[in-house]
Amino acid sequence: MSKPEKFFDENGLRLDGRRVDEIRPMKIEVGVLSRADGSCYLEWGNNKVLAGVFGPRELHPRRMQRPDTAIVRYRYNMAAFSVEDRIRPGPNRRSTEISKVSREAFEPVVLTHLYPSAVIDVFAEVLQADAGTRTAAINAAAIALADAGIPMKGLVSACAVGKVDGKLVLDLGKDEDNYGDADLPVAMTQDGDVTLIQMDGNFTQDEFKEAMELVKVGCKQILEIQREALKGKFSQSETEEIENEAVIEAPAPEVEKAENEKVVETEDDEMVEVETEDDETVEVETEDDETVEVETEDDETVEVETEDDETVEVETEDDETVEVETYDEEVVETEIIETEEDNENVGNVVMEDDENDKEPDENIDEDIGKGETNE
Ligand code: ADP
Repeated sequence: MSKPEKFFDENGLRLDGRRVDEIRPMKIEVGVLSRADGSCYLEWGNNKVLAGVFGPRELHPRRMQRPDTAIVRYRYNMAAFSVEDRIRPGPNRRSTEISKVSREAFEPVVLTHLYPSAVIDVFAEVLQADAGTRTAAINAAAIALADAGIPMKGLVSACAVGKVDGKLVLDLGKDEDNYGDADLPVAMTQDGDVTLIQMDGNFTQDEFKEAMELVKVGCKQILEIQREALKGKFSQSETEEIENEAVIEAPAPEVEKAENEKVVETEDDEMVEVETEDDETVEVETEDDETVEVETEDDETVEVETEDDETVEVETEDDETVEVETYDEEVVETEIIETEEDNENVGNVVMEDDENDKEPDENIDEDIGKGETNE
């Protein structure tokens, strides 16, 4: 990419048609990762960023714990494929620096003293980069923290301001960032207190003051977009809850075979039988034509996914027994793993075709698919 001949057209508009005080379009989705406590996917112009928050949770190793407060860890990472030339995976000087300053950008707002000895992990993954990724990541992280229910004094919003051909411009695009005279990324609280400021290039004192006014306007606009996204999420999740309740209370009549038995026919003529012994929820997904029977005891939730009768994973969320039987004479191995975090029991079931060299041992018939949980 070479330097554009001019950065402004005859109407004073920028290369992508924006006014000097206009930010790129921003789109936010809240709660996109089911394993994170809070998450956000954010598109800003051509930037695409995913943020996930985990915690507050107990910090290990314990020697790193702070007895009076939680610590916040922030990892900014650019995916190898996020730019035109491949980026070498793993941390580098730039990502280490951005992680540090971004973590500090949240320090004044996160109420860490409420969670002594804990850690709050923030991961910001840049999937596609097009200038302004650290600010995009901070905007996404703020939403993910709010989505995780982390108590904060308010949101943090970030935007860059720069100088191109002697003119101040808000939210630099890629060419403006690469070939401009200055770049000033800023993050601020909703009260306008600056929590991150970095500068690449030079401003005169007057330019700097003007730049700060401009970036304040940008952050305010972003704050509004963030707030709308969060409002959207929470009003939507209320609706979803109501819909889900309706589904649970009124299952489709054609899938009911007997009171405690459900038969689900899938598109490719496979048959899945689910027998339950209580009013628990069972979800089954198959991608090939094996038959899977799942029997559960108690009112737990069981999720089963099968692919090509190779691997079946059963995850349980409480103290229950789960039996998985297959009809194709596969070998089934089950083990119950006690997880560190909350003593949640996870049953992993691996199925293999019986032509496979590994024979089940004597006890496996009895043990097949059975997992006893530890109280
Ligand atoms: P920011 O993304 O916060 O503006 P920089 O000013 O360091 O951070 O980077 C500007 C842009 O340059 C990035 O958004 C990205 O598009 C590009 N870039 C950064 N690092 C690399 C890299 N290692 N290889 C290729 N492009 C990069």
